[in-house]
Amino acid sequence: MTTFVDRVELHVAAGNGGHGCASVHREKFKPLGGPDGGNGGEGGSIILTVDSQVTTLLEYHHSPKRKATNGKPGAGGHRTGADGEDLVLLVPDGTVVLDRKGNVLADLVGHGTSFVAAQGGRGGLGNSALASARRKAPGFALLGEPGEARDIVMELKSVADVALVGYPSAGKSSLISVLSAAKPKIADYPFTTLIPNLGVVTAGDTVYTIADVPGLIPGASQGRGLGLEFLRHVERCSVLVHVLDCATLEPGRDPLSDLETIEAELAEYGGLEDRPRLVALNKVDVPDGQDIADLTRASLEERGFRVFEVSAASRKGLRELSFAVAGIVAEARAAKPAEESTRIVLRPKAVDDAGFTITEEDGAYHIRGVKPERWVRQTDFSNDEAVGYLADRLARLGVEQELWKIGAHEGDTVIIGPEENAVVFDWEPTMAAGAEMLGRRGEDHRFESPRPAVDRRREKQKGRDAAEAEFLAFEALSSSRPAAIEGDDEDD
Ligand code: GDP
Ligand code: MG
Repeated sequence: MTTFVDRVELHVAAGNGGHGCASVHREKFKPLGGPDGGNGGEGGSIILTVDSQVTTLLEYHHSPKRKATNGKPGAGGHRTGADGEDLVLLVPDGTVVLDRKGNVLADLVGHGTSFVAAQGGRGGLGNSALASARRKAPGFALLGEPGEARDIVMELKSVADVALVGYPSAGKSSLISVLSAAKPKIADYPFTTLIPNLGVVTAGDTVYTIADVPGLIPGASQGRGLGLEFLRHVERCSVLVHVLDCATLEPGRDPLSDLETIEAELAEYGGLEDRPRLVALNKVDVPDGQDIADLTRASLEERGFRVFEVSAASRKGLRELSFAVAGIVAEARAAKPAEESTRIVLRPKAVDDAGFTITEEDGAYHIRGVKPERWVRQTDFSNDEAVGYLADRLARLGVEQELWKIGAHEGDTVIIGPEENAVVFDWEPTMAAGAEMLGRRGEDHRFESPRPAVDRRREKQKGRDAAEAEFLAFEALSSSRPAAIEGDDEDD
């Protein structure tokens, strides 16, 4: 038996931003032109969008990992890299999106409602965009940012107008199949229906959706069987129809006690007290069934239920039932304010976009903040000019000043970013404090001073020697034949 799918865990990964390009324009008979490295493209985002045609999350159960495409790197000649493509995942109406801790991220109701589940990474600026009066020909570009990646949980609470509740084999699925165009699986044993059947019923002017709630057995609300899973589907229905089996041969069961058992489970689950209820006495095509129905009807009416004798087999009483249900649905709709139309729920943006915090621990200074962390991700640590630019940005934000203020000293350890992805510096205040770019690339006095012990993790991958060699080669190139670095990509 396969498991019921109305809850699925999905790993979504947006595309990375493309790296910016560092390049210098070169033309025949013309001396060194300006920087012309284009920006990297944006990474594609993962977007969940409600499509009323989609009724299950089954598709995501089969492939629970989704990735959007990366942005392309920028190129020389001011060419911007192509953006990655957004990946739009169609979900059923009523899909609730949660994080792994169970916090609701979005409640997707209404055709077209969309939610950005993972934001694509920003493309890195090319050296053309980084040029300024002070920094005429930057020999570096910014890296594209990684796209967001995370695990989400999607839960589907059906938005059917009508829920059929009743014991297994009472005939719920059969009734849906004859009331609507839906063709549910039907078999003669409990738990035949693993996915709630959805059907669309037309009765006069009213069109409504109907769903069954499989697996309701005594103890379902306590988690016995699969009933609890399915009860979620009832929450938003405006009418409940009790389907009572008038032909069951199981000892100890009859329509009245079945109704009481199911009502007890619903009460235990809670929140459904205000929903109007109808009773369908099913299987009256069977001779004993009609007798049982006759015996039961009065007691049910005494309890205030409207009672319909029906047969999914012979189709008796279906018209009356479907019209009575349509009446209640129409009333419920009229009573509801027209709020549940299309609305867009966006993920709340990260707070504190401007600031940063510094905490001291064992002589190390830990910097957290949206901007400093982004800037670190954008920095190509194999390029000293890029590192200098990062230092300038941090100084301008006031990080340098704050470090002084709280008593940091030269050589102290400065850590930027979250533990698992931090960049570690030995603080060299003169490097950052200057913020003054002198002369041409490669001649800035700051490049002559010993390199900061930046980003040990990344350096590890690359090897210090390689970085050093690159640095020297870069220096040689930029002072003698600057044009030769055209097309130099920042990709590492
Ligand atoms: P569910 O578990 O409530 O969805 O019940 P099903 O629709 O799967 O029906 C269970 C069994 O009862 C199947 O064998 C059906 O053929 C049978 N059944 C359903 N409705 C009727 C009916 O009106 N008359 C008769 N004779 N059998 C029915
Ligand atoms: Mg069924």
